[in-house]
Amino acid sequence: MHTFYSEERVGNKLILGEREAKHFKVRRIQKNEVFRVIFQNKLYKCRVFKEEKNQVVCEILEELEAKRPPKNITLYQCITQDLDTIDLIVRQATELGVSKFVPTISERSFKKEEALQKRIEKWKRIVIEAMKQSVRAFPMEIENPIDLKSLEPDAEENILLDNFYEGFRVKEINLSAKSFAVIVGPEGGFSEKEGKMLRDKGFKSVLLEPYTLRTETASVAILSILMNC
Ligand code: SAH
Repeated sequence: MHTFYSEERVGNKLILGEREAKHFKVRRIQKNEVFRVIFQNKLYKCRVFKEEKNQVVCEILEELEAKRPPKNITLYQCITQDLDTIDLIVRQATELGVSKFVPTISERSFKKEEALQKRIEKWKRIVIEAMKQSVRAFPMEIENPIDLKSLEPDAEENILLDNFYEGFRVKEINLSAKSFAVIVGPEGGFSEKEGKMLRDKGFKSVLLEPYTLRTETASVAILSILMNC
């Protein structure tokens, strides 16, 4: 069943705006075919009421269950030099159920503020695409970029993926915690000073076995473990 995204409701009709209407046409939805529509954190089963040039009016048939992720995870992803890598991580983090994505600036991050601000708009669009693909009705929030130095361990379990340091193993994470903060470094990793600063603040340095991973692999690996164990 296809899934679409709406930003407007009129009575029991959901409107697909111009961008979604294009997507809808590409899918060649038949007259009586049912599909899902995400609207304001909820999921609906719908069918076409009226197809117009720049919008599609959908009739709500019923509300469907919108699953909430079992854990509340904030991902502090250090911004890589290659911003395409963050596009991929935003997509995967949305699919994996991350609640909040915080682009984080570390010593070895890309730092040009104007380019980052523009990119955030793209990341918000990627979140919507990934929500449709993964039938996720709750958006992943994207915060404004923050500096690594300002992070504090304010979740129940606070994890630092620091591949220089043999700290904790995955088995030693409190997997039954309900809220997690996870910090992942950029392509070039953290400096020794950054790792120490975060450990001193109380982040648990976790080592993933057996090898050094790319940042996008490291994020997906830890998120899958936290969400499913
Ligand atoms: N260039 C660095 C590697 C950086 S990997 C080097 O040569 O050492 C990028 C980020 O992915 C790291 O900062 C860390 O957050 C994460 N990472 C990669 N492999 C990891 C591992 N085995 N365990 C924990 N974190 C890892």
